[in-house]
Amino acid sequence: MSVDSAAAQMPPSFNLKYVCLKCGRVLLKDLSQSLVLKCENCSNELDAHPGDKLGESIIEQCVVCGGDDLYVRKDFKQMAGAFIVTFAVVVATVAYFYSANMLWPILVLVLSAIADAALYRFIPDLTACYKCKAEYRGMKRNPEHGNYSHYTAERYRALARQAAEAAAAKGA
Ligand SMILES: [Zn+2]
Ligand SMILES: [Zn+2]
Repeated sequence: MSVDSAAAQMPPSFNLKYVCLKCGRVLLKDLSQSLVLKCENCSNELDAHPGDKLGESIIEQCVVCGGDDLYVRKDFKQMAGAFIVTFAVVVATVAYFYSANMLWPILVLVLSAIADAALYRFIPDLTACYKCKAEYRGMKRNPEHGNYSHYTAERYRALARQAAEAAAAKGA
């Protein structure tokens, strides 16, 4: 295999977004370029946990914390979806007041629902870590990762609270 064809198989960008544990800065890294997790602000460096399939652009475990509880959701789905629906409701209301015909407002709402569904298909997936909230974009979907679960998220929030309380008790 030539170098060119190997490079062509890599995704154009394979992005990681995470928060520096030391200074709280939000950091963006392109994992297809480098696996060094060093903060640009405070120079704190974390050990990366790449997993076996990162070369195939599949996330197996969280690169930042090594946790293996990850979920998949649509990137910006709520924002774009809410915008279209709100816009449609406004247009439908205006259409209702200016038109004696009930068909127009209904048509606007139906079309916005179709636009929402079409948009949903085009919005790419994003994988996120329950434990440290790191986000991964541009990778292939790992079938082992399900959709967001409030139950799992709450379990990790409880663990984080316990850890924070234990740390506070230790410091006092
Ligand atoms: Zn930092
Ligand atoms: Zn993580």
